Amino acid sequence: AKQEGRNRFSFFSYDLENSIRERHQLELSLRNALLNDELLVFYQPKFDLTTKRIIGAEALVRLTGDDGIFISPTEFIPLAEETGLIIKLGQQVLSKACIEAKRWFDMGYVIPVSVNVAVAQFADPNLEHMIATALQESQLPAELLELEITETALMLDAEEMQTKLSQLKALGVTIAIDDFGTGYSSLAYLKKFNVDVMKIDMSFVKDMLNNKHDYEIVKTIISLGRSMELTLIAEGVETEAQRQALIELDCVMGQGYLFSRPLPANEFSDFILLTEHW
Ligand code: C2E
Ligand code: CA
Ligand code: CA
Ligand code: CA
Repeated sequence: AKQEGRNRFSFFSYDLENSIRERHQLELSLRNALLNDELLVFYQPKFDLTTKRIIGAEALVRLTGDDGIFISPTEFIPLAEETGLIIKLGQQVLSKACIEAKRWFDMGYVIPVSVNVAVAQFADPNLEHMIATALQESQLPAELLELEITETALMLDAEEMQTKLSQLKALGVTIAIDDFGTGYSSLAYLKKFNVDVMKIDMSFVKDMLNNKHDYEIVKTIISLGRSMELTLIAEGVETEAQRQALIELDCVMGQGYLFSRPLPANEFSDFILLTEHW
């Protein structure tokens, strides 16, 4: 029976009982990985769309399942948020990412690293201290750390968020709004929270060339970002045609499979050297 419980693709996986068991198994895997410091962090390069130079990297967590296959963060991040494990997870990813970016810096490459900060992490009174500690321990210049937060985080208590974000900004880090356009966007908060970067969600980029509405949304987000003097970056750039279209719309930064998938740390270092000769 124990053997069966481990089979994640069992015929009855739609049964409630199985889904509870799977969830429990996933939580155990996550707890173990956190305890044994076994989470991996991959890095996806961000590019200047015109020069094709690396201008940044996003840190993306990876959890290996019992079968050796990666479990998607879209499965375990929500679970981590619900169980509170996100605090420890966030801390481990941040710490690794800062150390890695400092390594690039020491190799002579000034490549800012972006780390995702989950909404639930904003409830942690220790958040600011944790970030300051990661910077101090890695000796990474604060300007080389960017925090990606979603619009949902900005829906938390406005006054409290404003205080927290100013504290973080006072450390010298950059703040980006992730998945822009998918949450409950209020233009008022964008101004109020004084963010630096707007990441255009990949769902709009995906269909921008075959859906007129998506094209208009991308165009509108870009002009909104411009008018607020934010740095714009498009996510999920997969084709050369999308790259061209984004440049024409005056969005000059992007990340996506057209350039590279997220890479393990050692491959990312090789990739930096490789792209020098592009
Ligand atoms: P995200 O922050 O929006 O990250 C971008 C996701 O899109 C990544 O998926 C990335 O691999 C994928 N992606 C990049 N380029 C392309 C492309 O051209 N096409 C397509 N179809 N996908 C592309 P990933 O790594 O599976 O992460 C999924 C989500 O999980 C992330 O979405 C983020 O919300 C969350 N996540 C990942 N790592 C962390 C973390 O360390 N902390 C937190 N809080 N959340 C994380
Ligand atoms: Ca992100
Ligand atoms: Ca995103
Ligand atoms: Ca997303």
